[in-house]
Amino acid sequence: MEEHYRMANLDQFRTETRSWLEANCPASMRKKGADADNPYTRKKRSGDSLLWLETMADKGWIAPTWPTKYGGGGLSDAEQLILREEMAAISAPPPLAGMSLTMIGPTLLEMGNEEQKQRHLPGITSGTVHWCQGYSEPNAGSDLANLQTKAEDKGDHFIINGSKIWTSGAMHADWMFCLVRTDPNVQKQKGISFVLFPMTDPGVSYKPIRLINGEAPFCQVFLMMFVQTKAS
Ligand SMILES: Cc1cc2nc3c(=O)[nH]c(=O)nc-3n(C[C@H](O)[C@H](O)[C@H](O)COP(=O)(O)OP(=O)(O)OC[C@H]3O[C@@H](n4cnc5c(N)ncnc54)[C@H](O)[C@@H]3O)c2cc1C
Repeated sequence: MEEHYRMANLDQFRTETRSWLEANCPASMRKKGADADNPYTRKKRSGDSLLWLETMADKGWIAPTWPTKYGGGGLSDAEQLILREEMAAISAPPPLAGMSLTMIGPTLLEMGNEEQKQRHLPGITSGTVHWCQGYSEPNAGSDLANLQTKAEDKGDHFIINGSKIWTSGAMHADWMFCLVRTDPNVQKQKGISFVLFPMTDPGVSYKPIRLINGEAPFCQVFLMMFVQTKAS
């Protein structure tokens, strides 16, 4: 009986979702590959691409299963699947992609404290804050445990020195999630910390890495900075 009720609700959700997408997804976005032209950051969007992002953000469907209190849609996995199916049926692209949504957001949801979630997740679910990933280094790629970027723990702040490489989209990013070595005296797979900082910090600079085709999708990022470890 309960199972039957749940299925009826899902059928209703599908009907409502189909109508909502029909009314709200701009016609120009309904084509395979439309997302390829959609930059990850809101500030670089315009026209229907921006409208699609804003409409989905208002609905909470940039991150459909994240809690509504952080700007998500609060959907169940089954509802999210239906949403994806209905979007695919009209070739509607995901409104946003990238590491903000797929890496740092889920990490904060799982591991972050409430203050960190409230501070960072709404920027992702609205598409306004774009993150980059600072893991690889000139001598730490496949062997990531070899990372050397040093963070000295000074109690209420870290002093960070080092360099990251192959940082996709660093030139557009607002924040970086970054792996740093906080204890050099233990096995190299240990003594590593995960820090978050804004790319506007004066201690962050970067140099685009130009590829043979002339594009420069990655950067080398140089860090010489002071990062507050108590939330502010
Ligand atoms: C499109 C793209 C986007 C990226 N974006 C980011 C990003 O945003 N942030 C970030 O931190 N990193 C990023 N990276 C870096 C990436 O995730 C890897 O860390 C990096 O490409 C691998 O390191 P490396 O280039 O130093 O190669 P290496 O680790 O030096 O490897 C070179 C070669 O040696 C081989 N090799 C390595 N170790 C061994 C072993 N033990 N035995 C046998 N063979 C081995 C590898 O398979 C490879 O063929 C990106 C990479 C790509 C391609």
